[in-house]
Amino acid sequence: MTPQTVAFYTLGCKLNFSESSALGRQFEERGVRRVEFEQGADVYVVNTCSVTDHADRKCRRVVQQALKHNPNAFVAIVGCYAQLKPQEIANIPGVGAVLGAAEKFRLAEILTELELPTPGAAAGPGRVFASPISEAHEFHPAQSLGERTRTFLKVQDGCDYSCSFCTIPLARGASRSGSVASVVERVEKLAAQGVQEIVLTGVNLGDFGVQGPERERRENFTQLVEALDQVEGMRRYRISSCEPNLLTDEIIRTVAASRRFMPHFHLPLQSGSDKILGLMRRRYRRALYADRVARIKELMPHAGIGVDVIVGFPGETEADFLETYQFLNELAISYLHVFPYSERANTLAPTLPGRVPERVRTERTTQLRSLSEKKKRAFYEQHADFETEVLFEDDVTDGRVEGYTPNYIRVAAKYDPLLVGEIRPLRLTQVNALGLMEAEEAGITDYADFNRIPRIL
Ligand code: SF4
Repeated sequence: MTPQTVAFYTLGCKLNFSESSALGRQFEERGVRRVEFEQGADVYVVNTCSVTDHADRKCRRVVQQALKHNPNAFVAIVGCYAQLKPQEIANIPGVGAVLGAAEKFRLAEILTELELPTPGAAAGPGRVFASPISEAHEFHPAQSLGERTRTFLKVQDGCDYSCSFCTIPLARGASRSGSVASVVERVEKLAAQGVQEIVLTGVNLGDFGVQGPERERRENFTQLVEALDQVEGMRRYRISSCEPNLLTDEIIRTVAASRRFMPHFHLPLQSGSDKILGLMRRRYRRALYADRVARIKELMPHAGIGVDVIVGFPGETEADFLETYQFLNELAISYLHVFPYSERANTLAPTLPGRVPERVRTERTTQLRSLSEKKKRAFYEQHADFETEVLFEDDVTDGRVEGYTPNYIRVAAKYDPLLVGEIRPLRLTQVNALGLMEAEEAGITDYADFNRIPRIL
């Protein structure tokens, strides 16, 4: 087929968004223009997620919407859900093709070079291109596009762990990455294009370093962090998330000594009860987690630390939940991402005894979300009156722009075109009614050389 236009709909995580951008570029290289979803594209690509609740219903709805915009569009489905349930998706009316994890990066080639019939809503099942997940061993780099300030750069894919609640290893396959040299080269290009901040992303980022068809461990995440720290021209890096057992002292030390790696960590905890961590098959216990947080704070007292938690996992009693609550309450962390446990097909967790009723899962989620608000406000308030640097984004809402400090405090300021996409020194003042930090011009007058601004945070 010879499509002129393509539009994307992406569900799920930053990795999926980066991969949609990479797929979009592949179409552009073949002369296919990327358009907005509402513009009635010739090809629609839905990049799905297996973590999303009711993934099938969402997928169905997006397909219907796409066909409303162009009843003759060719609809292709990729992403985690496509790998897990290819046949089911192929039977959704209007789906033309389903591509699994090993095939999705051939999407543009398949659609532009193969003779695929345009299915339309009434046609039969779509074509399935999905090999078993064990065959997904190539690493395909990807990065988010179009954001002048921040780019999400995928440096690792897949996961060799087997947490009992998680379908990601089944949907994305084994752990694999590019080389340190290839990531450095990409970052140099992005720096030359004016990107100011890179968020390193992956499924199990701390496991970076497995390469090639033989799946050899050739490098490690510490080496990547050390190498990126030397790239001239890149102003800021963030590590999107790292399993606590993989966050080594070396990484913490490198970040602490770096001017480019921000003092901000996101560490999945999932539960503060050792019993539940065992049932979840996590590779650490609460003492290790507390030790990692303490080590970060020892070297970077102002570091922002985010935590993922799952509540209502099978077997989680009221006492286990309270243990988690108290553990988090006492930890020097700055915010939580709380997820109520949700059963996933083909995982071990739903077979465990002690199912927690939905109502209790919701109550526990609410309690931890309020704890998160309390922690976040306290963290923000500790920083009132500090001078620091803020990178402002390009969205303007009600005459205001927002951005982040190095330690991930969300700052709002009056819109000024000179602020957008820039790192500016500011004095943090107070937390406003929306929970954002207000800021004013810092006392520093020489903005030309940021290296001379003392890094207070
Ligand atoms: S570390 Fe655990 S939760 Fe994270 S992707 Fe791997 S299996 Fe899933």
